[in-house]
Amino acid sequence: GSFDHSTFWKGNRFPSIKAKSFGRISMAVAVNVSRFEGEELQPYVLKVVKKAENLMLERGENKEYLPIEGLAAFNKVTAELLFGADNPLIQQQRVATVQGLSGTGSLRLAAALIERYFPGAKVIISSPTWGNHKNIFNDARVPWSEYRYYDPKTVGLDFNGMMSDIKAAPEGSFVLLHGCAHNPTGIDPTLEQWEKIADIIQEKNHIPFFDVAYQGFASGSLDADASSVRLFAARGMELLVAQSYSKNLGLYSERIGAINVVCSSADATARVRSQLKRLARPMYSNPPIHGARIVANVVGNPALFKEWKEEMELMAGRIKNIRQKLFDSLSAKDKSGKDWSFILKQIGMFSYTGLNKAQSENMTDKWHVYMTKDWKNIIGRIIFSQM
Ligand code: PMP
Repeated sequence: GSFDHSTFWKGNRFPSIKAKSFGRISMAVAVNVSRFEGEELQPYVLKVVKKAENLMLERGENKEYLPIEGLAAFNKVTAELLFGADNPLIQQQRVATVQGLSGTGSLRLAAALIERYFPGAKVIISSPTWGNHKNIFNDARVPWSEYRYYDPKTVGLDFNGMMSDIKAAPEGSFVLLHGCAHNPTGIDPTLEQWEKIADIIQEKNHIPFFDVAYQGFASGSLDADASSVRLFAARGMELLVAQSYSKNLGLYSERIGAINVVCSSADATARVRSQLKRLARPMYSNPPIHGARIVANVVGNPALFKEWKEEMELMAGRIKNIRQKLFDSLSAKDKSGKDWSFILKQIGMFSYTGLNKAQSENMTDKWHVYMTKDWKNIIGRIIFSQM
């Protein structure tokens, strides 16, 4: 006989499931102010992306499944953009690159790798950091703790605190680092500081794990924004790097990025790649093709690549301009002698102002200058662009 669902389905079957509210900013604001052409405040698709899409349409490309590891042409160029096309690592086949579901999905895949092959190993993350890092490691059941990063006294890097916390972490920990344009502070280590961070990581046998969400979008130069990662790679260290094309190509909703694992040999690379695929297969089977093709077409075509770099300089330049204007106006108007130069030193689309909660609220209530409250809910942060 047939099963009568109407009499069966009468209870509250999900009594323990509660709704979770997502923050307005983190989920809803899907526009990128830095790309607002002519300041028209409209989300803007990069010209170079439209051109690549037109080429793709003309070619009538199909919608077949990608292999689990993604589009080969994308994986090749994404590793080359990151490490530099002439990096010996690439010749030596020591980078396991797997296309991921943008930065988030690539981080999540790496977290799954850590959980499976480094059971009990800890990831240490900066305080503060991008909010989703904690979710990602919690979700993958990877233990994490924080290292000091932001120093409210200088509105800069707490370098000594960072160094001693990295040193104090259990040997063989994963150290999550923002490749450039630290989210949410906008504060990056200098190259000399990166060298010292690399020293301590090597000394403790830790494994660096870079999150690169803003390559080219921070300084306007793909190479400059990858210099932290390349400095570590040049030491022959094994490391992980998650990449995202959400910001630098404005491909937010295409979910295009990659996880790269630098290994000590071609053999280890092949083994790591196969295990990344094994983790990806039951999660999402294989990644989406459209964004991967856009990246491969833009980077693979010299004219489009040049255009992309120009558009990136424009985006980064706009943010730098706003920083300069903000700094100039504040310095001119503020008679207290406060040093506002941190606004110029910070990089990327976020700026910690150092304003406390009352000061931020005063700016909002009286002057309609809106800031987010960050870092233990006390620091006003200006967002020059989308998160
Ligand atoms: N890491 C950092 C530091 C970010 O700021 C972001 C985007 N806000 C991401 C990763 C991931 O973004 P997506 O998943 O869109 O690539």
